[in-house]
Amino acid sequence: MRILLTNDDGIYAPGLRALHAELCQLGEVLVVAPATEQSAAGHSVTIYSPLLVQEVLDPSKGFQGWAVEGRPADCVKLALRQILPWKPDLVVSGINSGSNAGINVLYSGTVGAAIEGAFFQMPSIACSMEMPGNEPANFALGARLALQVIKDILGKKPDPGDLFNVNVPDLCRGPIKGVRVVPQNTASYVEWFDKRVDPRGRVYYWIGPDFTCPEPHPDTDVTALAEQWITVTPLQFNLTRFPALEIMNDWNWENTTGQLATESVR
Ligand code: MN
Repeated sequence: MRILLTNDDGIYAPGLRALHAELCQLGEVLVVAPATEQSAAGHSVTIYSPLLVQEVLDPSKGFQGWAVEGRPADCVKLALRQILPWKPDLVVSGINSGSNAGINVLYSGTVGAAIEGAFFQMPSIACSMEMPGNEPANFALGARLALQVIKDILGKKPDPGDLFNVNVPDLCRGPIKGVRVVPQNTASYVEWFDKRVDPRGRVYYWIGPDFTCPEPHPDTDVTALAEQWITVTPLQFNLTRFPALEIMNDWNWENTTGQLATESVR
């Protein structure tokens, strides 16, 4: 099996190294990842600056990768269209330092990279782990658990373009209960901005680091993670609100299709 591994924390992030070590059990792994941290880059891509690429080799650990001065989605695009010598069977993104659950899935560069893999019709899996408050994170164990989930998913022979979001709970909080398949939470988070003044007297704002979701919907990724479950959420990137399609097709669009359509021909 051939695997493209990427992330949004950057090619030197400990989470990526830990997951790389585990994924090597499944086959050949090549890494194309951002040169610097790109957390919360979502699905953005780079169009007004060049994508510099530097090879990163560590033969003693069987690590071969390319650091891209771009976004996570840039990395996947570039990997599949230019860099990789083969078409991968699987795209994995992570393991991210911090969970990507609830509406944070939409901001996540980790998930953005996996979505890009799904665009290319490859099974794609985003992996993240919740960080402990004060202790160092056990990325080795987090990656081992993520690999087990990846193996379970692959065992079910996912279709091309199938997209999964996997989260491992804070491992310092207690033992894992198991795996739950749950939908994304959509309840909002409490966010705050620190208002500051720079040395030249100009006001600026800096978003606070701790997002809390005070009223998460039950049986979602956010609640299951808090209850110490590994969560798996099947995702899709088609944002069309299908129930509205039929209804809106029955709307009266005659103003546009009538007079204005005629005018556009003139
Ligand atoms: Mn990140």
